[in-house]
Amino acid sequence: MQDIVNRLLTRPSLQQAQMAGAAVRGAYHRDPKETLTSLASWSAHPENHVRIASGIAYGVIGQRNRDALAEILPFVERLANDTDDDVREHGAEAALERLWLAHTDAMWVTTEDWIGEKNDRIVQVVVSTIARITTSGKIGRPSLLRLFMERGLGILDQVTPGASASVVQTLARAVDAMGCMAPDVVTPHVLRWAKQDDPKVLALVLAIAKTPYGPLCAGLDLKSVQTRVRKIRQAAEADAAARVSRGDGQVEYMQVVASEFLIRQQSDHMPWAWIADPYRGCQLRCEFCNARTNSEWSDDGPGGFVRRVTSVQNAAEVLALELKQEHMQPRSENAICLGVTSDPYQPSEERLMVTREILKACLAAEHPVIIQTRQQLVLRDLDIIELLAMGDLVNVYVSMQTSVDGIRNKVELGSSSTAERLRTMRMLSSKSVPVGLLLSPIMPEITDDEALLDETLRCAADAGASWVTAEVLNLHGSARAKMRRFLGDFAPALLDRYRDIYTAGERIGAPDPAIVERLTTELIPALAEKHGLTDTSRMLTSGREKSACLIRT
Ligand code: SF4
Repeated sequence: MQDIVNRLLTRPSLQQAQMAGAAVRGAYHRDPKETLTSLASWSAHPENHVRIASGIAYGVIGQRNRDALAEILPFVERLANDTDDDVREHGAEAALERLWLAHTDAMWVTTEDWIGEKNDRIVQVVVSTIARITTSGKIGRPSLLRLFMERGLGILDQVTPGASASVVQTLARAVDAMGCMAPDVVTPHVLRWAKQDDPKVLALVLAIAKTPYGPLCAGLDLKSVQTRVRKIRQAAEADAAARVSRGDGQVEYMQVVASEFLIRQQSDHMPWAWIADPYRGCQLRCEFCNARTNSEWSDDGPGGFVRRVTSVQNAAEVLALELKQEHMQPRSENAICLGVTSDPYQPSEERLMVTREILKACLAAEHPVIIQTRQQLVLRDLDIIELLAMGDLVNVYVSMQTSVDGIRNKVELGSSSTAERLRTMRMLSSKSVPVGLLLSPIMPEITDDEALLDETLRCAADAGASWVTAEVLNLHGSARAKMRRFLGDFAPALLDRYRDIYTAGERIGAPDPAIVERLTTELIPALAEKHGLTDTSRMLTSGREKSACLIRT
């Protein structure tokens, strides 16, 4: 088995991986136990062609040996959940196809069990394999093929409600493949979906209409579907607006489709050239948040910032196109930043994974990306971030205003604790990901005490941060009134002082320049020096002065 891997590693390619996987059949006949043990390590091998080969091998072995299924299937499921698209397509789908054709009943039970978990990657592998088998010509008898398609469409029925945007696209491609082969089997299902009121099901119908099979779907009244989608969306928006104006309710999730995604950044003090925020609105509810002013300029209204989270459904697709454009060259001067007007790892990201898809697009284009977050959820994407870091294509700024929880949890109501953020820094730096501490915002008279700052920088340095970037609190728009309300409860004695500090600045909402000067030219640089937070060798700057980017104004 080791010889097979060594050969594959000298010439890694899809063809070699397929040959390596097929060659395992002989080894399994000689020593089944030893072969399955080796395959388990192949399925977790860092080289993706070895993982692909393990999928081929599992298919080849399982196809002939039903008794081995129980041992094989957990590893095929692992491959179906692999982060690499090629491993899922050429490894997991290839294995599933063989196993499904050989042990049809057992595989229906298994795949129905897998899709119950609602894991996007696994669902996509299952759905794509159904389409692959249907169109492969490997089920010769027409009656059996129709039965297979009927049952496959039943699986599509189960996964469509609640499907993410990327799953909807996979479903549409599968329906297209099956529909072009046998429209008489598929069309009744599509017409039934078109009568439902579930927005996800209707989104699938609209996606199907754009495929080559769309015009073959006799009786599909597209206009009526579009009208119903519009009405459902309007009703949802009206309901959200009513709840926001009543001041009650949960977070409302909205999705928009964008034709442009990147926004130009002009300031010379920011290390990025482009803003690429996956969300408008932020559930983390920081008392000092200036980004909330963005929602004052939109239909969401000031309260909507924390109650309505709008995600850009097609962010990764649009970004991938934008990154190909000439003006994005040279890449080193066009770093993009996630986390300027909202946190890219706020709770909605757990489910929607827009940020994750954006990172994948950056990795595919080898484009530099800066991530700013207060959330430990960033560690979920460590697999991609690590790969970006290998090419010096990523900086992660973990934002903290202080490491003292007694203050932090009064001003930052929904973000990760100090311990979680320090653990995040530690994990990232242990994987050689360049990490900066974003000391943001320093709140005059609250977190600008020298001892507090000293302790915060010490903790960050111990956790592996390489440099520190500082930002003193600005209070624009409604952020000012919000801060007054907060101070009224938290530190009423500071109300007058804050009025003075924020009327002495040159710009509306800017703090007294004397305070900024003391912090950014004296105290923070001295403390950074003391704790060794001065290694900016891997800092991305988009061609700007590093020293300017360390102090954001
Ligand atoms: S995490 Fe950032 S965007 Fe979100 S509320 Fe806090 S300051 Fe505002």
